[in-house]
Amino acid sequence: MKKTAIITGASKGIGAATAILFAQKGYNVVLNYNSSYESASLLARSLSQNGFSVTPIKANVANRLEAELLIKEALYKYGSVDIIVNNAGVAFEGLITETDEVDFDRIIDINLKGTFNCCKAAAQVMINQKSGKIINVSSMWGQVGASCEVAYSASKAGVIGLTKALAKELAPSGITVNSVAPGIIETSMNSNLTIEELTDFVDTVPLGRMGTAEEVAQAIYFLASEQADYITGQVIGVNGGYVI
Ligand code: NAP
Repeated sequence: MKKTAIITGASKGIGAATAILFAQKGYNVVLNYNSSYESASLLARSLSQNGFSVTPIKANVANRLEAELLIKEALYKYGSVDIIVNNAGVAFEGLITETDEVDFDRIIDINLKGTFNCCKAAAQVMINQKSGKIINVSSMWGQVGASCEVAYSASKAGVIGLTKALAKELAPSGITVNSVAPGIIETSMNSNLTIEELTDFVDTVPLGRMGTAEEVAQAIYFLASEQADYITGQVIGVNGGYVI
């Protein structure tokens, strides 16, 4: 039977590249989006027209009920939830003195609570199946902290803590939980940076360039594959050597 992968935040960027890769590898793909209806529908339609099994589902992962419905709809449609990639996320830059409580709550709600909501709902299904793989998308800033990104760095550090704790909790149920921590990746998340800012940053990356969404997708795919059956609770950096 075909396996099913849910990819949150798959309307663009890393999530879209991951959805495409899983579809090409033969998975049923649930392509979650929140606000980008058009790009999610376009991607789902073009994959479906090429014979791949893809279902777009709108859900704000920060909302517990919507996250639960996302998992339920996937289960109803395909009969199992084998992989969940918690990729949905938003960035926020600003000095701590300019980060108000609303900004902080929004980042934590989407990046950390959204991951918790989807992990919890998917874990309920996976525990019954006695199998499953959870991959949470953190960031290298969750490992080492970024200046002027306190909320974002805290949310992504939280994702790493959640991943490690959940890996221990779910291992007896045959479920692995891992994280990828991307460096600076060419997606719309970095579209606010000037060419000069990007050039300055790239100069500090040992491999001398930004990463691509497809390169992050490959690391996620590996963690979801049978080749990673004995790997759990780990954080795989995809950062060109910036954090070693
Ligand atoms: P992106 O191109 O901006 O895409 C973000 C995705 O997250 C979109 O599909 C968006 O969906 C979705 N999303 C945002 N809020 C959501 C919500 N409340 N519910 C459901 N989906 C939501 O960003 P990206 O670079 O691909 O980032 C993907 C992940 O990688 C994020 O977790 C990010 O923190 C992490 N990351 C990125 C980089 C980087 O340099 N790009 C580095 C490290 C980590 P809609 O547009 O439909 O709302």
